[in-house]
Amino acid sequence: MISLSQPPRTGDALRAFRSTIRAFVRTEFVPHQDRWREQRFPDPDAWTKAGSVGMLLSDVPTEYGGGGGTFVHETVVVEELAREGVPLHSFIHDNVAHYILAYGSEAQKREWLPRMARGELVGAVAMSEPAAGSDLQGIATTARRDGDQYVINGSKTFITNGWHAGLVCLAVKTDPKATGPKAISLIMVETRDLPGYRVGRPLEKIGMHAQDTCELFFDNVRVPAANLLGPAEGKGSLQIMDKMSYERLAIGVAAVATAERAVAVTTKYVKERNAFGKPLIDFQNTRFKLAECKTEAYIARVFLDDCVERFVAGELDAFSTAMAKYWLTDAECRVVDECLQLHGGYGYLAEYPIARMWTDSRVHRIYAGTNEILKEMIASSL
Ligand SMILES: Cc1cc2nc3c(=O)[nH]c(=O)nc-3n(C[C@H](O)[C@H](O)[C@H](O)COP(=O)(O)OP(=O)(O)OC[C@H]3O[C@@H](n4cnc5c(N)ncnc54)[C@H](O)[C@@H]3O)c2cc1C
Repeated sequence: MISLSQPPRTGDALRAFRSTIRAFVRTEFVPHQDRWREQRFPDPDAWTKAGSVGMLLSDVPTEYGGGGGTFVHETVVVEELAREGVPLHSFIHDNVAHYILAYGSEAQKREWLPRMARGELVGAVAMSEPAAGSDLQGIATTARRDGDQYVINGSKTFITNGWHAGLVCLAVKTDPKATGPKAISLIMVETRDLPGYRVGRPLEKIGMHAQDTCELFFDNVRVPAANLLGPAEGKGSLQIMDKMSYERLAIGVAAVATAERAVAVTTKYVKERNAFGKPLIDFQNTRFKLAECKTEAYIARVFLDDCVERFVAGELDAFSTAMAKYWLTDAECRVVDECLQLHGGYGYLAEYPIARMWTDSRVHRIYAGTNEILKEMIASSL
């Protein structure tokens, strides 16, 4: 019998890692969720606590302070957070580490990665702007070279981890006259006590309330020219295309874990709730809907596991990652919506886990490339 509660990617060491992360999330994060939601950001020490238990940079080599694992370790972290409904976006923090690992100099790796692994430096990826989301070429933030510094001007919006971010992987135009992908570069910005840098209050969203999503402002911000990522200007678009796969697959992991959780939570609910003198599960519609949801979650799991295996082997292309993110998040939203319906009015109450899953999951179809943009990308491979 298929069990949706035990993902197949196991093995003794991974099982031990999973139980450590599971226990940590339950004792250190779950009890604080209501407060995090009210304040609209996780407690600052959530990051250092996560670092102390090995939850951050689990798939970064140990020589840079990471856990020395693979993306499978990342999936464990993302799954355990999703299972408990904790929307800490550690995978974005970890993705910043992978930008540095892939494109940073040795000095940059030694400077930032160990502090990121300890959670002392929280990572954010800042690309979107008020007038440019899907159309990244339209960004207006600039970085002008001035001696051994860059002078940055502009603003970013919707930036996950923005409130706590100590290290921002920032998409800028280094050559405003250049057109196309070559105009864009990535510059790492250490934000602490940085003159001209400002963070807006966390944005009011319909879900992910415990997650800080902010506007960032840059007013003549000066950073060392050595903070450019990569050997030369104009490499940003290629770097983003490469590392977006990491983020997209991680979102797919969260999507599948959420769909599985929705099925589990709803199955329990319909066995306990009565209508017309019998439990809801005794109605054929309830059983059929849950049977469909369970099947869809299982198909999603098989697809995801295949993608993860190929990603770890370095064999998953960007088109397949786009397929995974689009299809898995669409499936997640279908499953969660059906499961909410089976809760009746209680599914609409914010205190019920299924309601939080419904509002939290919706953004999965929007960020890291909307699912429409991803279909365009997949179609370009036909
Ligand atoms: C909670 C949250 C967290 C986020 N975190 C981050 C972050 O950490 N860093 C970051 O840089 N950004 C982040 N984003 C921004 C997110 O990536 C963008 O919102 C997303 O890329 C879409 O851009 P947009 O909002 O400008 O929509 P638009 O680009 O204006 O798109 C609007 C609609 O038009 C459609 N559309 C646009 N172009 C096409 C096309 N060519 N073909 C078909 N349809 C099209 C889109 O699919 C969408 O449905 C976040 C957003 C949210 C809501």
